[in-house]
Amino acid sequence: MNIILMGLPGAGKGTQAERIVKDFNIPHISTGDIFRAAVKNETALGLEAKSYMDKGLLVPDEIVIGIVRERLTEDDCTKGFLLDGFPRTVPQAEALTATLKDMGREIDHVINIDVRRELLIDRLTGRWICKVCGSSYHTLFNPPQVAGVCDKDQGELYQREDDKVEVVTQRLDVNIAQTQPLIDYYTGLGVLRTIDGEQDIDKVFTDIASLLRG
Ligand SMILES: [Zn+2]
Repeated sequence: MNIILMGLPGAGKGTQAERIVKDFNIPHISTGDIFRAAVKNETALGLEAKSYMDKGLLVPDEIVIGIVRERLTEDDCTKGFLLDGFPRTVPQAEALTATLKDMGREIDHVINIDVRRELLIDRLTGRWICKVCGSSYHTLFNPPQVAGVCDKDQGELYQREDDKVEVVTQRLDVNIAQTQPLIDYYTGLGVLRTIDGEQDIDKVFTDIASLLRG
């Protein structure tokens, strides 16, 4: 079972990825991890990638796809894999399709965990921290008894810069703009599966599992 997992920040992709790989016994291939591994192990492609990163440049697609390809040819991927964080662009997606075809394989499902933008913003901006003791609250998931005040010591709660609505919205909109062409691409290939990510975590996983068990 060859799967790509997609979801915007705040959609719960990480949690679902963990559960999918455990339940379906396939490796979780996060591009961040395999990049770090390739660089650390000083593979030919890893060293090439590093030379770009050291200069603060984007690693070219052919190197990125090469590193992904090397990982996909490892033994633990014979029964399938869960790709997470790749592809990020349509050219990368096209290169992946071609690479898999070379290997006699294809993507079976692209799972998109779908959550409305407004709800993602609520989830991503909900964190508040106590100025006194550092306790963390979340307006949706773990609210303080009194808004803006720590339950333990009545300290004032504040938001980190990264959690503020302007910053979150801008980051999210960049992500949405980058993701839409991929959604269109995989819709065109007939492999996009949209999962309602606004349900509770267990129900989201149940839906994914029943889709994968087909
Ligand atoms: Zn406190």
